[in-house]
Amino acid sequence: MQQFHHYIGGQFEAGSAQFDSLDPATGAAWARMPEASPADVDRAVDAAEAAFYAPDWAEMTASQRGKLLLQLADLVAENAPRLAELETRDTGKIIRETSAQIAYVAEYYRYYAGLADKIEGAHLPIDKPDMEVWLRREPLGVVAAIVPWNSQLFLSAVKIGPALAAGCTVVLKASEEAPAPLLEFARIFDQAGFPPGVLNVMTGGAAAGAALTSHPKVAHVAFTGGPETARHIVRNSAENLASTSLELGGKSPFIVFEDADIDSAVNAQISGIFAATGQSCVAGSRLVIASSIKDQFLERLKQKAEAVVIGAPDDMATEVGPLCTQAQRDHALALIAASTTAGARLVTGGVAPDRPGYYFPPTILDCSDAPDAPCLHTEFFGPVLSVVSFNTETEALAIANDTQFGLASGVFTQSLTRAHRMIRGIRAGIVWVNTYRAVSPIAPFGGHGLSGHGREGGLQAALDYTKVKAVWLRTSDDPIPDPFVMR
Ligand code: NAD
Repeated sequence: MQQFHHYIGGQFEAGSAQFDSLDPATGAAWARMPEASPADVDRAVDAAEAAFYAPDWAEMTASQRGKLLLQLADLVAENAPRLAELETRDTGKIIRETSAQIAYVAEYYRYYAGLADKIEGAHLPIDKPDMEVWLRREPLGVVAAIVPWNSQLFLSAVKIGPALAAGCTVVLKASEEAPAPLLEFARIFDQAGFPPGVLNVMTGGAAAGAALTSHPKVAHVAFTGGPETARHIVRNSAENLASTSLELGGKSPFIVFEDADIDSAVNAQISGIFAATGQSCVAGSRLVIASSIKDQFLERLKQKAEAVVIGAPDDMATEVGPLCTQAQRDHALALIAASTTAGARLVTGGVAPDRPGYYFPPTILDCSDAPDAPCLHTEFFGPVLSVVSFNTETEALAIANDTQFGLASGVFTQSLTRAHRMIRGIRAGIVWVNTYRAVSPIAPFGGHGLSGHGREGGLQAALDYTKVKAVWLRTSDDPIPDPFVMR
């Protein structure tokens, strides 16, 4: 079995305890992972704090930080095939997707490399003639970055990139489910030339996460995961009063009007819910479809869903691989059963195949006569689409917004005016019009409500890793006047 290591203060360590990581395609253990104890977390935060104040990082110019991030980007691009293989092996995500996604992760590091020396302060036109006042933007301090197992290299790049560009240091905790790609990423990071302790990478479950997010030396917690864990994170941050950014789940509406380009909408819906085996926070998991085209659209979707190639995740021909864990498959089965009991109609799928591993087929539930079916409101995090139909645009918008989440949304129509009305009306952090599941380092990503708060990607994300210091400098040589009057 392959042995993976923590990366603390620039050193690789086997950890005080270990656990097995399972291959989702077979259910068999394939690697030994170190498990962080609260003492390991302490050492990692201490290393990050020491690095934050050490002159070789604290006094490094922003341009030099940018150059190091560029070297990291090149190393990620160079090692993308190996990282993709590891992600596929440990999470079950298909190689077709991991190889393309990880190659693109390098672009996030390039984007924040370019931003490092463009994080500017400001000079203020202050209302006192004998004062110069300006704002310095300074790094927040030690950042705790916590990510789930899905798209982990991408979800950590959108935290590490802007945090290091701003001059912070980071302790990254990979999920206890499938941490191999991030522990391997630490080895690549080690070659980029950053001072030791600037990034520390570890893995472990709730205990390690709680120790990290409540640690008195942590200034900010950047979290991606589920809403229930986010509640723990917010409670933990009551200990250190750290700021938080939360990227959580979704139940994103995918709205198709009768004038949509149907071929395009069908393909986008397939991509929106079955790509990554549905294990995507932005999954278009609620199809909101015009009644007049519902039967035709569902028939096309059903045919495509049943033709999807289910197979080994490391085979380039595979389109849907296994889910990452047994628990997710159990969750999908239970939620489907509760939804059919509530009146949802199973159009296709819904039964786990009889083979080793955590495979689950593309599944469609028609909820047009079951508006209260739990599948319409609960995240599956699997390849399960729930369908509901509408008669008017107002109704479509009401259904789309009938959720506590607010992450992503899709609108398919050829009417420009209707598209604009929907863009205004939809309550979500992302609206894709006539496309779906597109991302870029240049565009902010995030949501509201149960989908969390804060944005990752884009310029603002780098500013969010800084705090403002107001500097007052008196320019008069005269003695300070009346000391009992505030200036
Ligand atoms: P999860 O919330 O169970 O775990 C996420 C991370 O939190 C893991 O590293 C876990 O070890 C850690 N953790 C668990 N308990 C903790 C605690 N008490 N304190 C601190 N950390 C703790 O999520 P998951 O099941 O691994 O991932 C799936 C969820 O992530 C879904 O809801 C999905 O929608 C969401 N997600 C969101 C985005 C986004 O950008 N919005 C992206 C991907 C996934």
